[in-house]
Amino acid sequence: MSQHSLLRFIPSFDRLSQDDRIEMLQKAYPHPIVLKWIRRAIEEMREEIDAERIQQPADIFENIVSSILEQEQLYRGSKIRPVINATGIILHTNLGRAPLSERAIERMIGAANAANVELNLHTGKRNHRGQHCVEQLCHLTGCEDAVLVNNCAAATILVLQAVAAGREVIISRGQLVEIGGGFRLPDVFRSAGVTIREVGTTNRTYVRDYESALTEQTAAVMRVHHSNYQLSGFVTEPSIAELVQMQHTAQIPIIDDLGSGWLGDHGRISDPTESLCRLSDPSIPDSVSAGADLTLFSGDKLLGGPQCGIILGKRKWIDILRRNPLMRAMRLDKLVLAALEGTLEIHLEQLGDSELPITQMLLANREEIRARCEEITERIKPLAHCDVVPCDSQLGGGSMPGQTLNSYAVRIHCKSAHRLAKILRTGPTPVLGRIANDSIMFDLRTVRSSQTEPLANAIRQAISLEAEQSKAE
Ligand SMILES: *Cc1c(COP(=O)(O)O)cnc(C)c1O
Repeated sequence: MSQHSLLRFIPSFDRLSQDDRIEMLQKAYPHPIVLKWIRRAIEEMREEIDAERIQQPADIFENIVSSILEQEQLYRGSKIRPVINATGIILHTNLGRAPLSERAIERMIGAANAANVELNLHTGKRNHRGQHCVEQLCHLTGCEDAVLVNNCAAATILVLQAVAAGREVIISRGQLVEIGGGFRLPDVFRSAGVTIREVGTTNRTYVRDYESALTEQTAAVMRVHHSNYQLSGFVTEPSIAELVQMQHTAQIPIIDDLGSGWLGDHGRISDPTESLCRLSDPSIPDSVSAGADLTLFSGDKLLGGPQCGIILGKRKWIDILRRNPLMRAMRLDKLVLAALEGTLEIHLEQLGDSELPITQMLLANREEIRARCEEITERIKPLAHCDVVPCDSQLGGGSMPGQTLNSYAVRIHCKSAHRLAKILRTGPTPVLGRIANDSIMFDLRTVRSSQTEPLANAIRQAISLEAEQSKAE
């Protein structure tokens, strides 16, 4: 059949609307949305016919309907919903990194309506936005002052632009990293109008390399945590303390980008204690007490708070940042400020063990994880072949590359692990696990105790559905 005659088989909008499946969509979604899906599906069909990929008129109607249904599923799949993270990756970027504490969540809800974001209730006068968090940070870390921005990437841009625009920043070649999502430090320098003065080699950089690069053009010296990659073997890098101590004028700030800053209270982690401490070195208070002029880190990595970038430092430099016009574009939302206050309060009260999900996940006892795995397998055994296996959890989020924590997982063998994974992702309680060969694993380190029961139920339902679907094939 000619393309021209095939085009006549494209159904009208009215005929499509009479199809039960499309009628259901029209009840569930606002009209313009469904209309857009229909138009796009028809447009695609025209292109298919033009490209001679469709030969039979009989295929046309069903193809258009499935394209509409596919668009609906994509739309629904991107809607943000609570998810059970059974991947074993504690700071999972695709799942929003650090899970918040109950206290932080309550604070966010409390700030949702009118709240004194820039008002001191005692004086009735204006406050700096984030004033309370800044005071908490000073208590926690010993810093003089702080500013808060949207994330650590913003912190890097603000600092470079405010302190070094039009001049040079000295940095070790081994630290010019890509953090992820295409965020490459050399590009960030360029966009802030800063020239990179690279020193040393990929694996070895000495204090003398920095010293001999200091010129009148030097605006700052920066150290960047490797975050998501590991240098091992024949490696030397000066510590932040050594950089502070080298011969330089007070006009040249030493900047420490810690990335995943930790407060130093995770030292009790039982498993790989040694390596955890070593890689997280220095902690935030260490960086401050070593004398860094500015210390940068994320709020939603090891700190366990909402997404934000925290800049601590000497008052003189923080004042410069505060006056920079970019500051206004990067300032924090009141919900984030409220969540951060709640999180910092937990750190100040040293209640991380009992209140902070990130700390609980890091400290979780292996035997306790195993017992919860057994609990779930007992419930699943009648339905599927499953067992409890040792596995490795990861910190994720560009923290501690190559470091893992020993854990346990529930492993389920099934006809199609990919299909079971999809059923679990798209179910009423979305669950994310890890696919390994022909099985799917659920690492319980990242699953909170209150989620054990819902997880078991979700898996049971998904297994039944998967069995039905594979029987239907
Ligand atoms: C993660 C990270 C960043 C970026 O932090 P965001 O909060 O994601 O913007 C910057 N620098 C380092 C060293 C990091 O590890």
